[in-house]
Amino acid sequence: MAVEKDVRIALTFDFDAYSTWIGTFGATSPSMLSRGEFGPVGVRRLLELLKRHDAKGTFFTPGHTALGWPDHVRAIVDEGHEVGHHGWVHENPITLSPEEERNVLERGLEALERIAKVRPVGYRSPAWDNSPSTIPLLLEYGFEYESSMMGADFNPYWCRIGDEWSTTEEYKFGKPVDLVEVPVAWHLDDWPYFEYVITPKVTTTGLRNPNDPLTVWKDEFDYLYHRVGKGLLTITMHPQVIGRGYRMLMLERFIEHVIQHEGVTFTTCAEYVRDWKKDKSPSLPEGAGPARSKAWEA
Ligand SMILES: [Zn+2]
Repeated sequence: MAVEKDVRIALTFDFDAYSTWIGTFGATSPSMLSRGEFGPVGVRRLLELLKRHDAKGTFFTPGHTALGWPDHVRAIVDEGHEVGHHGWVHENPITLSPEEERNVLERGLEALERIAKVRPVGYRSPAWDNSPSTIPLLLEYGFEYESSMMGADFNPYWCRIGDEWSTTEEYKFGKPVDLVEVPVAWHLDDWPYFEYVITPKVTTTGLRNPNDPLTVWKDEFDYLYHRVGKGLLTITMHPQVIGRGYRMLMLERFIEHVIQHEGVTFTTCAEYVRDWKKDKSPSLPEGAGPARSKAWEA
């Protein structure tokens, strides 16, 4: 008898708008900023596409975006999608002091609460980098999951505090905590495929044929569906990137591919996380060890 499939797809969108150009790339020109101004255009198109497929997605939204484009953020919420935290103005936490990181977290929360009346339970670090303070802060502020790490593909796992590493000692696993990781991957992100960015610090050539990501995303799905059978596929997109016409058609083709398969549904990250953790408690990844920090195990 064939095993019943249960594959869920998390379509996630980082609604960066201006914030990535200001916070990450230090924009100095209106032209550069205008690339972020396309984000809201993309959001409208995505909302229409999601509605057509009766799919709910997750929009990680910096506070700066919520204040700049309040109607769009409210439309996201009104249509039943999840809104997650994505910094204040797309800061990379590893460049911040612990106090600055706390301020950024609070400012993002405050903007989302004021504009969209939501208290997010999910966090995605801009630039997918976490500082040593990030996980403790997320716990303190009551988050349930974070989505910036790459230690698994089709299954969430528990975040840890206090991992220790060096070039001379064995790896010491930190303490697993009640914060779930929803893993991401660069090959499942639209930005590197498409976005053309040349700054003194960063070069991404982008502008790839949409069949490139389509092939990769479909094959990742096919592997999950046919070889694994159960799990979550998380795709990361940016409205200002995926919102361009020929890329929207690529996303439509991807959606049409996955929904042909029985046992496939769309999910928000929060919904998946709550379901996944029901029968679990914080633990290390399977097979981890033997070097552990005995202090927290005692
Ligand atoms: Zn972002």
